Amino acid sequence: MKYISILGSTGSVGTQTLEVVRNNKDITVTALAAGSNIKLLEEQIREFRPNIVCVWDNEKAKELSLNVKDLNVIIVTGMDGLIECATEPKAQIVVTAIVGMIGIRPTIEAIKAGKDIALANKETLVTAGHIIMPLLKEHHVNLLPVDSEHSAIFQAINGEKGNEISRIILTASGGPFRGKKREDLLNIKVEDALKHPNWSMGQKITIDSSTLVNKGLEVIEAKWLFDVELDKIQVVVQPQSVIHSAVEFQDGGIIAQMGTPDMKLPIQYALYYPERRNLPGARVDFFELGKITFEKPDMDTFTGLKLAYQVARIGHSMPTVYNAANELAVSMFLNRKISYLQITELIEMAMNQHKIVQNPSVSEILNIETETYDFIKSILNK
Ligand code: NDP
Ligand code: MG
Repeated sequence: MKYISILGSTGSVGTQTLEVVRNNKDITVTALAAGSNIKLLEEQIREFRPNIVCVWDNEKAKELSLNVKDLNVIIVTGMDGLIECATEPKAQIVVTAIVGMIGIRPTIEAIKAGKDIALANKETLVTAGHIIMPLLKEHHVNLLPVDSEHSAIFQAINGEKGNEISRIILTASGGPFRGKKREDLLNIKVEDALKHPNWSMGQKITIDSSTLVNKGLEVIEAKWLFDVELDKIQVVVQPQSVIHSAVEFQDGGIIAQMGTPDMKLPIQYALYYPERRNLPGARVDFFELGKITFEKPDMDTFTGLKLAYQVARIGHSMPTVYNAANELAVSMFLNRKISYLQITELIEMAMNQHKIVQNPSVSEILNIETETYDFIKSILNK
């Protein structure tokens, strides 16, 4: 029996993690956490019987407590509650499927408590990679990537210990606006940006995929996870989303991981690594597929990716500014407060005014997040 805790259980990755748990009969869920969706949380509690559940929203936590008072479950709230779920004593693996930088502190506490991390929350590694990576070593903890590209790379290097990576080929679908130019993006509406061609995901990452900021975050994530120089990470657009990423070695050999676009594969691989289990679902039919095509990403139109390479090169506190500016800008776009192109414009403006903090601590990272939010709000109020 494996014991896991899921932070962000009501979201896209969270619910698919629970599907994997449901399909296999040997995982016990000991903790769940979500923001405010107590209706789904209650269903999850009744099905999976965790020991402890966190609801970020205090009022909703009280309401849920009353609704499940017939059960033996502890309901907690806020950051302390999240950390309690991340460090639940029985849990061996913590699935970090929360969206945004809110995931940093629970992830750090889970590592300190010796839990393996199935990492979906890329914002944590992007902003605090310099803290997370040494901490994993110190506590002898495994970080198992859930992001499909990083899982693909992880699968490709499995068995290649000691062999140097000469290139990471990080694939991208190109998103719903592939082939468009900046002038075509002037009047993009929320509904247009939420239509991802191949993957069904939470709203924030779907917008990030359309701007290629998601790919930018993934470049930075890959740099931390696989310890490769930035110049060795090449983004290749592959609109069919069949090759999930690939690794080239010194002899020119390339190992790619392929499959249908289904997040349950990387989730299940992270939970059972290195074992591969049956996963029901569609399989790639090469004859039906016919072809796989490749393109260069258009970084002049999708400046989010170009900025991410700059950010990764600068390092230190700059990835936090990039990420925080994006988090606020995306939520403002989703609330129809700013236009689509303003998302990346605001990221660039925030980066330009930022004074670098070397190797920021967690509290410095969180301060920079607040300062970045304040900067963006101040320029929008002008
Ligand atoms: P969703 O928006 O679908 O889900 C987010 C989850 O986080 C929900 O359970 C939400 O709860 C919870 N949450 C939000 N705020 C808080 C908070 N303050 N405290 C506790 N829980 C909170 O996101 P996704 O599942 O799409 O993405 C999650 C993470 O995984 C992101 O970092 C994303 O980049 C990454 N990822 C996602 C992929 C995907 O296929 N979706 C692929 C690769 C990476 P509630 O429902 O109550 O709001
Ligand atoms: Mg991805």
